[in-house]
Amino acid sequence: MKSVALTTPLYYVNDLPHMGSAYPTIAADALARFYRLQGIPTLFVTGCDEHGQKIQQAAAKFNRTPQEHCDLMVRGFEELWNLLDIKYDRFVRTNDPRHQPIVTEFFQKVYDRGDIYQGQQQGWYCVACEEFKEERELLEDKRCPIHPTVTCEWRDETNYFFRLSNYQSQLEELYRTRPDFILPLSRRNEVLSFVEQGLRDFSISRYTPWGFPVPIDRQQTLYVWFDALLGYLTGLVAPEEEPTLANALKTWYPINLHIIGKDILRFHAVYWPAMLMSAGLPLPDRVFGHGFFNQRWTENG
Ligand SMILES: [Zn+2]
Repeated sequence: MKSVALTTPLYYVNDLPHMGSAYPTIAADALARFYRLQGIPTLFVTGCDEHGQKIQQAAAKFNRTPQEHCDLMVRGFEELWNLLDIKYDRFVRTNDPRHQPIVTEFFQKVYDRGDIYQGQQQGWYCVACEEFKEERELLEDKRCPIHPTVTCEWRDETNYFFRLSNYQSQLEELYRTRPDFILPLSRRNEVLSFVEQGLRDFSISRYTPWGFPVPIDRQQTLYVWFDALLGYLTGLVAPEEEPTLANALKTWYPINLHIIGKDILRFHAVYWPAMLMSAGLPLPDRVFGHGFFNQRWTENG
C-alpha cells in the first residue's frame, strides 16, 4: 500500500461520547498505528456531525444555542480522545465554515447530473435516526426499530430528493464485483437484502434551521446525512489549504476504510457510494460495520 486514509464515524453530538464511540475510535487508532509502524503514510480522520433537528432539540433541552451545545460536546470528544491517547490526524466538524464550500460544490455536481429534484415527502420520521422509515420497518404504535422508545412523526413536506433509484444497478454491480466492499459478511448480507427490495429516492432537505442552506433554495437546509457524509472529504483537506473539492481529492482520496457502527450501515454502504457515483468520484475501498457494544462484554466491569 502506498498510503492509507481511514475514518471513524463523525460522531453525532446530541450527547457526550460513550463506549460506543470509544470502541471504533480505538480500533481505528490501532489500525492507523499498525500502518504507520510499517512506514506507510497514513491519514486518520475522525470528528463530529453537528447538524439536524435532533441537535437543535438537545440544545434546547439544556437551554443552549445549537452552536454552544456543539462546542461543548465536541470538547467532550476531544478530551476523551486525548485521555485514550488517540492519535488522529484530522478532526472534522460539520458546521465548520470550511466544510460548507465543499458541500456546496458537491451538491452542484450532483444537481448538474440531474440527480436532485423537488418532490413531496410523506412518511414516518424518526428524529433520533434523522431518517424516514418504511412503514413495514416500524414496531407497534409507529415506534422506531432502532429507538423502540421513540414514536415516529408523520411528515408531509416539499423537499429536494436525491435520485438513489438511478443507482440501483450500479450499486448491485459494485457489491457483486467487489465482495469485500462491505465487511463483515453479515453486514454485506444486510445491505444486499435492503437493496434487493428496490431503492427509493430520499429527501436531502429539511425545514430545520440548524444546517447549511440548500444552495438552490435558502428556505431549507440540507439533510444532516447529506452534509455529514461529505465531512469525510473535508477531512482530507490540509488545514493550510483552501477548502475545495479539488484539494480534498488530490492527496488522500479515495478513502481506504470507513469504520462505522451497524446502525449507520445503510448511509455508508448505499447512500454514500451512490452520491459519489452521481458526483463522478471513485468509491472508498471498504466499509466495515462493527456490531453494537454488547452488554455481555461490559457487565462485571
Ligand atoms: Zn430511530
